[in-house]
Amino acid sequence: MNIDSALEVLDAIPPNRIQEGQEAAFFQMIDEALDVGVAILDENMIYRYMGKSMMEQLCLPEGTLKVGNSLKDCHDAMLKYGVFAKDKIQDSRNTSQTNLSGDVLNDKDFIHKFSDGRRIQLVRKKLSNGFLVSMAFDVTALVEKDEILEESLRLGLAGYWTYDFASKSYALSKSLHTFFGPQSVAEINRNGIICIVHKDDRAKFKHAFSNISQTDDIFDVTCRTTSVLGNERYSRSTGKIHRNLEGKPVSIRTFVKDVSKEHNQAMALEKAKDAAIAASHAKSEFLANMSHEIRTPMNGILGMAELLENTNIDDSQREFVKVINDSASALLTIINDILDFSKIEAGALELDPIAFDLRDTVADVADLLAVKAKEKQLEIIINYPPQTHDRFIADAGRIRQVITNLVNNAVKFTDDGGHVIIDVDIVKSGRASNKSMVSINVSDTGIGIEQHKVNDIFQKFTQADGSTTRNYGGTGLGLSISKKIVELMNGRISVKSVFGEGSTFGFIVPLEQDEANEPPELNTANLTGKRVLIVDDIKVNRTLLTEQVRSWGMVPTSCENGVDALVELRTAKTNNVQYDLVLLDYLMPGMNGQEVASMISTNDALGSPPIIILSSCDQPKSSGELSQFGILSYLVKPVRAKRLVRTIEAVISVPPITLPKLPEVQIKKGIGKELAPPPSGPEKKIEVLVAEDFQLNQDVVRLMLADSIFSPTFADNGSEAVEKFKSEPDRFSLIIMDVSMPVMDGYEATNLINEFNETNGRPHTPIIALTGHALKYDREKCLDAGMDDYLSKPVQHTKLMTALKKHHQSTIAKHKAA
Ligand code: ADP
Repeated sequence: MNIDSALEVLDAIPPNRIQEGQEAAFFQMIDEALDVGVAILDENMIYRYMGKSMMEQLCLPEGTLKVGNSLKDCHDAMLKYGVFAKDKIQDSRNTSQTNLSGDVLNDKDFIHKFSDGRRIQLVRKKLSNGFLVSMAFDVTALVEKDEILEESLRLGLAGYWTYDFASKSYALSKSLHTFFGPQSVAEINRNGIICIVHKDDRAKFKHAFSNISQTDDIFDVTCRTTSVLGNERYSRSTGKIHRNLEGKPVSIRTFVKDVSKEHNQAMALEKAKDAAIAASHAKSEFLANMSHEIRTPMNGILGMAELLENTNIDDSQREFVKVINDSASALLTIINDILDFSKIEAGALELDPIAFDLRDTVADVADLLAVKAKEKQLEIIINYPPQTHDRFIADAGRIRQVITNLVNNAVKFTDDGGHVIIDVDIVKSGRASNKSMVSINVSDTGIGIEQHKVNDIFQKFTQADGSTTRNYGGTGLGLSISKKIVELMNGRISVKSVFGEGSTFGFIVPLEQDEANEPPELNTANLTGKRVLIVDDIKVNRTLLTEQVRSWGMVPTSCENGVDALVELRTAKTNNVQYDLVLLDYLMPGMNGQEVASMISTNDALGSPPIIILSSCDQPKSSGELSQFGILSYLVKPVRAKRLVRTIEAVISVPPITLPKLPEVQIKKGIGKELAPPPSGPEKKIEVLVAEDFQLNQDVVRLMLADSIFSPTFADNGSEAVEKFKSEPDRFSLIIMDVSMPVMDGYEATNLINEFNETNGRPHTPIIALTGHALKYDREKCLDAGMDDYLSKPVQHTKLMTALKKHHQSTIAKHKAA
């Protein structure tokens, strides 16, 4: 039972019953059942009733106080039994005396603390007949909670205040009392809580209540207040208005927290941030100025070097000018990066949207970097699906810069012989919208990036490896600039990489389509139904070309090497199917494009289709010379769609050229060895032993020798070659020797064959190295090992024939001389 309900019970007792003392049983019930100690004193402070619970609450042994004892007896007993100290009794007495004048003595602060730790609150009510009902409540747990709350508030520099609308009164936690001091608390009760808010923050404080209905009756406001010591503090007040069922406000409960420390820290942080931004701007401005200052003389250096290059200078001077040019260009690239970077850092990079053709932009970048790629025998492949949108409105220069950076890196970090693919994918945002999500991914087969370094790669001045600069050059700025540009366009840039296998750097940006200036559709009517054979060793190239020509209505078939192409053409011809065109890669393992072309154009059985070479290296011969191999056009990759269409149209309209015929080669699909049995005829063939482990290369040699006076016999490795030679030494006039072979390499095989000849007093058999090792030093190594000549792969038909003929004739000459 709580105090208020106990008082209500007392009020309900008719005074006459108390007077008559008939209510003892009733009080006993309250005393025993409700855990409330009850005693009644008359006007002389003599107990008229003393409940059992009251004795227990007061910690007095049963029977210590009885009806007839006085209040003084009670205090004496409490002193005697050590319930609480003497001075506390005095307090208690004083309070009892001073408060006796009122009707109800319900001073909730007047709580006895007993020596055993219990807290007992005494509530007294004076009845109409002058009697005093005294009730004792054990409030130990409540007080403890209150103490915990107050201590927490004090430690957390917090407090609470409440406002009661009915009584128009405030109640404050002890912590707030202490913080504001009694004067301010009194003022709050007089003039409202606003009076403790700093003058300049009062409008803000009031404003926090203005939209209260939209915030679920919750307010949250930070204002300055002044403590009792005169310190200005920042307090955050978070409160809620409580309403009754009709929606009328009943009370406000507010939690207040001193946030001065946090506020001051935030202010300091803000100041430091402003200072840092200002410093960064100043630095960037300085950099921008410096970069401009440096660029001006740099232009002078580059311009003068160019002029000097065109004057009459000797070779060594030209070499000096080249070094000046290269160094100045490299420096200019770095300065441009720094300039861009400082612009971005200073927030001064602005986009300049114009209408442009993305397909052309991608092709331009590929063209620009093609020279660098060619030096490393890399192919740049563009996959921009034919049916997708080309024209957009955006900052074309910046988009080009990002693509250039990604492709440049891909070329830079890919070793010789790999490839770089630029994939463009365009997804329209919605039917009605003229926006598209444009994603461009640049994949390479390069060195890749270790997984733990991938995430940092877009940070400024970050390179995957400290040695990168040494090996590949660069500043580590390109990607961070690209990232900023892409983000400025509301896009995202990302990377996926497998160390040692390659990387894919890509970005996706929303771009507005330029509907007004759609380019005219390519007219490919003339190509419809034309049959084309695509020959390329790189699968992506075959796929892309196939897709592209198919979109023009052509009928494509693709092969991955020259031999397969020859087989396909032969099969087609046998089945009366005519190919209208061959699109032929130039650099392929085994037979190169020129060799394949030469065979196609000189062999009727292959249908003599016109040939276009698509190559990633520059045209090796004049067009006139190439036409001798049946090559009607030579295009350097990547080839733009328009150009390819125009070239194909021109080529397929040319009447077939007739070249001198070679004896027909028997070509069957399947095992290479079955490809070309020596043609029967009166002429005795010169037998050549060919040591070569790679099937396709055997096929190439077989095809190259098919129409000649030479007849090859193949050995799959050095050891087999030695065995074959030793078993029939007089059969072979010449030997073609690969170097890297399983079981026994070419050096050892050469040594054994030469040794065999010498020990048996036989003449030397010429051995021609035919190897993929193409350095100058490899040539010397072969000759030192006892070989007579050296040819590097891919070998050209004419070179092979020349070498074979040369060594055969010198053997004959030696024989004659002997
Ligand atoms: P830079 O190339 O001038 O050093 P970037 O910011 O363009 O600067 O590139 C940062 C680093 O990211 C490079 O130094 C390199 O370590 C790594 N990186 C970028 N592109 C590739 C890639 N295609 N393959 C492997 N590493 C790459």
